[in-house]
Amino acid sequence: MRILVVEDEKKTASFIRKALQAEGFAVDVCPNGNEVLAAVSTTAFDGIILDIMLPGRDGLSVLRQLRQRSDTTPVLLLSARGEVNERVDGLNAGADDYLPKPFVIAELVARIRALGRRSGETKSTVLRLSDLLLDTVTHEARRQETRIELTTREYLLLEFLLRSAGRICSRMAILEKVWNYDFDPGSNLVDVYIKRVREKIDDAFEPKLLHTVRGIGYVMKETP
Ligand code: CA
Repeated sequence: MRILVVEDEKKTASFIRKALQAEGFAVDVCPNGNEVLAAVSTTAFDGIILDIMLPGRDGLSVLRQLRQRSDTTPVLLLSARGEVNERVDGLNAGADDYLPKPFVIAELVARIRALGRRSGETKSTVLRLSDLLLDTVTHEARRQETRIELTTREYLLLEFLLRSAGRICSRMAILEKVWNYDFDPGSNLVDVYIKRVREKIDDAFEPKLLHTVRGIGYVMKETP
């Protein structure tokens, strides 16, 4: 299981990371609320431990944004105060569990295990950006109510771009991930496939989701 720990206090983050690693979890640490969305769009986590008090975006706001994007990764909120109101706000915002500080590390580990079991049952296989959905099992894409047929290569390209949503994908990164090339064939292969995918997912719809970053590559996001 891979866990993302969002906590700005270095000692607490390190304490949690070590405890979870000792129990066999893979752990990534993110110290700033603004960086969480980028982290979850490139890596699939089985759970997120989210502190409420953070620099940048606070934990509750991060949580609301995740849920708005239909990200169903289980979230355990940590709070320094443990007030009833905050707990209710957290659960209303889509948290799966809540633990006030200070906590006993064994309890945190037990709660994370429980979340992981729950997520295994309901784990989403659908990638989503705005109203574009991509089912990673059936390889079917859908935008609004329209079904979109993709060839295998178009699917692989769209899947890579969606998993990297919000981050610029260079042509070389696309060649590596989608075609397994470790060299640039010097052709316009990537551009041709980008054009095909764009015709299918963007031409008839608003907002446009697949954007060209001139001279660098491509990025999927809701606003240009
Ligand atoms: Ca904090």
